[in-house]
Amino acid sequence: MVEQITDKLGRPIRDLRLSVTDRCNFRCDYCMPKEIFGDDFVFLPKDELLTFDEMVRIAKVYTRLGVKKIRITGGEPLLRRNLYKLIYELNQLDGIEDIGLTTNGLLLKKHGQKLYDAGLRRLNVSLDAIDDKVFQAINNRNIKASTILQQIDYAVSIGFHVKVNVVVQKGVNDDQILPMIQYFKDKDIEIRFIEFMDVGNDNGWDFSKVVTKDEMLKMVESSFDIEPVEPKYFGEVAKYYRHKDNGAKFGLITSVSESFCSTCTRARLSSDGKFYGCLFSTVDGFNVKSFMRSGVSDEALFEQFKALWNIRDDRYSDERTAQTVANRQRKKINMNYIGG
Ligand code: SF4
Repeated sequence: MVEQITDKLGRPIRDLRLSVTDRCNFRCDYCMPKEIFGDDFVFLPKDELLTFDEMVRIAKVYTRLGVKKIRITGGEPLLRRNLYKLIYELNQLDGIEDIGLTTNGLLLKKHGQKLYDAGLRRLNVSLDAIDDKVFQAINNRNIKASTILQQIDYAVSIGFHVKVNVVVQKGVNDDQILPMIQYFKDKDIEIRFIEFMDVGNDNGWDFSKVVTKDEMLKMVESSFDIEPVEPKYFGEVAKYYRHKDNGAKFGLITSVSESFCSTCTRARLSSDGKFYGCLFSTVDGFNVKSFMRSGVSDEALFEQFKALWNIRDDRYSDERTAQTVANRQRKKINMNYIGG
């Protein structure tokens, strides 16, 4: 039976985001800059990561608190060996209605079919540019956008529902918005542009690098005939628009200009097994991994998860100002531990 609980701000818990690795094969400046994550960077050893059995156990207990959706994140989740086994097990859980995975897409041809066969259907592919040179300058691994586009085509061809996510930075890739809208409109693949946020500690964020939703919308309206789409459900994070001629949709995610903390129902497990109630947490998360490995029962885990949610009062994006950003410099959890 599900026990409906809410946090201090009245928000229920619906989503669980599981980070399965802190490694990535890209070195994007806003997430894992190559100056910090160089060849000698020490990633988590295997025994510091949650095992698949531990993740399934966590997810199962969370279903008793109302979690219906799971998102697999990283780092780059396709680098976690045998990920399809985790997907298969999560898919067997009563109460889980939806599993999604966020990836940079590079390894989809290699692992896509197994993941699909294990029951995964939804992919969010992060792709910040469609021009090879712009994309190579962002990923710092010489990977061409055209390579990722082929991987996306492959994923669609085997049946995945794909959405593309673009983090927009002023002066870096805002000139990619219109060509990407055109490309994915023609493919009828949903693309979402995300306002650049101050995630992690090393991404060099400031307000001047944000292209707001209104700015993006003006840009798109100048070239395309579009109309707004009604939200599908309460708390949908993207504001959607439709091309009037072919019905293809795109979204704008207003992480900075119109924050959506009041409807944030996401719990997060970092790759080192800690609970976080917010992407911008500055306190070290509760160590679920150690707690589990001390031999506690499912009942104790349930009570602990409940207590963690009951005291949650995070609303960082609602409160974001130049001052809060400055105060949290170098204190937040890094993005490769917690996903986006
Ligand atoms: S800032 Fe934190 S609480 Fe607000 S929407 Fe983002 S993750 Fe949720």
